[in-house]
Amino acid sequence: MIKSIDDESLGSWLIERLRNRYDIAKFGFISSFIRRGDRNPFKILVATILSQNSTDKAAMAAYRNLEKIVDITPSSIAKLNSKVIASAIKPAGLHRSKAEAIKKLSRIIITKYGGDLSNLLKKDVIDARRELMELPKVGPKTSDVLLVSMGILKTVPVDTHISRIAKRLGLVPLKADYETIRKRLDEIFREDDRYEAHLLLILHGRETCKAINPLCNECVINERCAYYKSLIRQNYICTRT
Ligand code: SF4
Repeated sequence: MIKSIDDESLGSWLIERLRNRYDIAKFGFISSFIRRGDRNPFKILVATILSQNSTDKAAMAAYRNLEKIVDITPSSIAKLNSKVIASAIKPAGLHRSKAEAIKKLSRIIITKYGGDLSNLLKKDVIDARRELMELPKVGPKTSDVLLVSMGILKTVPVDTHISRIAKRLGLVPLKADYETIRKRLDEIFREDDRYEAHLLLILHGRETCKAINPLCNECVINERCAYYKSLIRQNYICTRT
């Protein structure tokens, strides 16, 4: 664990460095795109499911295709044939299972929440999070992205990039699970910075801290990185210029 500076100053330092390096507005995050609209929780949920194991660009194309053939509401989607949904969302990949899930969760929202996902979100945040995770294809990350996008929860949803970076930085043990990582990042980042930290860390994972061959010498946060320090110790990286 990194203990040389306290959590709050580490969070401020990380976010400043990443802000100066990446321009979130230039990247087409589907969650930001949908969030900028009418903040409809069902649309955000559908978009987030489409983005699972996909790129934001592909998920956006799938979302737009779906929008062309149907109103993105539980009642309209529940009436559609799964094959029609699957065909529309094909660009996002895993289209058959995503189509089944989107149709199934539409039906659940109709029967359990009167056709309006907002009714679920009115519950206590812990209950809302738990019930969201009972919906098909909704795990902790998808649930947290929705709750954060709706301004209900201030946390750092953890995707595969964020998990990798947190471990390499030495913020959490290598075998840390989703909740351990999320809670640790919540300790580090101020409440109002958490959504931005989520987006910046995803960009950092895509652009620099890649799964294979991370670009450590170009990394703006390498001073605080346990993985980088271990490379220097093992003489894999020479710091002299
Ligand atoms: S120094 Fe390397 S491993 Fe550490 S955060 Fe930067 S890119 Fe990732």
